[in-house]
Amino acid sequence: ADDEAKHSISRDDVVVGRILGEGFFGEVHEGVYKSPTGERISVAIKTCKDCSADVKEKFLSEAGLMKNLDHPHIVRLIGVIEVDPVWIVMELYQHGELGNYLVEQQYILTSTTLILYCLQICKALAYLEGLNMVHRDIAVRNVLVASPECVKLGDFGLSRYIDEQEYYKASISRLPIKWMAPESINFRRFTTSSDVWMFGVCVWEIFSMAQQPFFWLENGQVINQLESGIRLPKPQLCPPTIYSLLTRCWAYEPNSRPSFSQLVCDLSEIHRVEKEEEAG
Ligand code: ATP
Repeated sequence: ADDEAKHSISRDDVVVGRILGEGFFGEVHEGVYKSPTGERISVAIKTCKDCSADVKEKFLSEAGLMKNLDHPHIVRLIGVIEVDPVWIVMELYQHGELGNYLVEQQYILTSTTLILYCLQICKALAYLEGLNMVHRDIAVRNVLVASPECVKLGDFGLSRYIDEQEYYKASISRLPIKWMAPESINFRRFTTSSDVWMFGVCVWEIFSMAQQPFFWLENGQVINQLESGIRLPKPQLCPPTIYSLLTRCWAYEPNSRPSFSQLVCDLSEIHRVEKEEEAG
């Protein structure tokens, strides 16, 4: 209940601005929030269009999960307005989705910066790993750019705590097949290990400047390729040290994949070496 109070904000303190984009439940607006200390914070306001009771519950479930998260590379929830019209208010990240940013900035971004983004996303996922939370939708479309040196993992719409069931058996069909681990495609089985697989695909997207993984295949063909041992090829800009990490993330056997905390160590080292080489 304490948590509820902490994130309950008043509509009078929110000024709504232009539309940023279309979310799954309704329009997302830019805006400004005046905090209790008088500070003015730029925010993104998610709205819910056809908000019947059960739609509202689903809409608010994402915010419910985010209330308990506090990490420098995870999108920050500012608050929720639970009376109709229901709003979810989040910190605004001016540069928008990482996928679009990679396309716009592709001739400017250095390999060191791309490794930094991977490391930051990996740290966010190591934090979730420690909370026994699976994200299930790790992709550049779900990462926001706060500044040229800082990205934030967002979109917890598919996230679940896996405390007791040990894994989460998904029931919905709107699943991102080309990002998914074989056991997720075959048995809808989602664990931290399947998140590690997806993280590998997200790193592949980053070094491909947001090309779609397996764009040369239909969704239905992906599992056969994976079963016969075929994996995404090394993107031209991807350092061999990173690609070797990716092949470990894409081990068929979930238990053979590294943990996020291991990946944070490996990526930190690769980032350190790359930065030194860049400095000459
Ligand atoms: P989907 O499930 O289809 O991804 P969604 O309901 O999760 O939709 P988002 O994708 O998060 O909605 O948001 C829709 C648009 O609003 C996106 O294009 C994104 O760029 C923008 N947006 C959302 N949150 C923020 C934010 N905190 N800062 C900046 N832009 C944001």
